[in-house]
Amino acid sequence: MLLYTHPACLAHDAGAGHPECPARLEAVLHAVRAAFPLLPWREAPRASRDALLRVHTRDLVERLLDTPIDGRLRLDEDTAMSLDSPEAALRAAGAGIAAVDAVMASEHTQAFCAVRPPGHHSTGAVAMGFCLFNSVAVAAAHAVYQHGLQRVVIVDFDVHHGNGSQDIFARDERVMYASSHQSPLYPNSGQPDEVGVGNLANAPLAPGAGSEAFRHAWREILLPRIEAFRPQLVLVSAGFDGHRLDPLADLVLEAGDYRWLSAELAALARRHADGRLVSLLEGGYSLTALRACSVAHLEGLVG
Ligand SMILES: [Zn+2]
Repeated sequence: MLLYTHPACLAHDAGAGHPECPARLEAVLHAVRAAFPLLPWREAPRASRDALLRVHTRDLVERLLDTPIDGRLRLDEDTAMSLDSPEAALRAAGAGIAAVDAVMASEHTQAFCAVRPPGHHSTGAVAMGFCLFNSVAVAAAHAVYQHGLQRVVIVDFDVHHGNGSQDIFARDERVMYASSHQSPLYPNSGQPDEVGVGNLANAPLAPGAGSEAFRHAWREILLPRIEAFRPQLVLVSAGFDGHRLDPLADLVLEAGDYRWLSAELAALARRHADGRLVSLLEGGYSLTALRACSVAHLEGLVG
């Protein structure tokens, strides 16, 4: 296991009082360092524009990287950029690319990208929902185009549906997108009848669903679909906002649920992908939950 991060990811500032705050990543990094003192840390490189352009429009890439930012640039009601945000977004996407390269080179079988801003809501053309570049999508496209993989799965257990990741790959059978998420909840996509070209698997969960419903959805619906897909690489959108302490959602999960699912995903990766698994931090807005869940996630992955 490797950890990728970058100080720029701590500098991105979406505004005073915004739930997607630098303290989130500090909490994750401190907790992971304390629990895994021997885990090697690597500085995330910048994603290249070409890597971003595999999934994003030139308009969006230029808007996020080239707009002069005087104070704050507001992209939508929830999403804003500070002077440091372009660098943070480049490092977040670059972390996923470097992590894919590392696991494809068999340097390590697993990597965790402790980065922000999150990415899974951003579509090809629109940055939204606290997200700038869709880092996990950039990583998936890199695996397909740079490494020639034919079957890559994005597993998304963030409490919100990753509408952007789904939208980017809905017509690309080389990338499967599998998600559990609270419904109704922002962004209100991710119903079971959203199937793409047979490469989407969505399991919406009712508010208050809890551990049993969450595990049932993965055990009975999502994991069997991923198993049948036989992914050559497992990518994870690791959001911890389903935890019962999270202020933005109401799925009532425990850290142990993330440990359980992470162990299942690691086992699945060993069966089909020589163990190759790259996880990227997405949401999670309780600092207490982020500490417990990020450690539980890595415990589940390393076994
Ligand atoms: Zn979320």
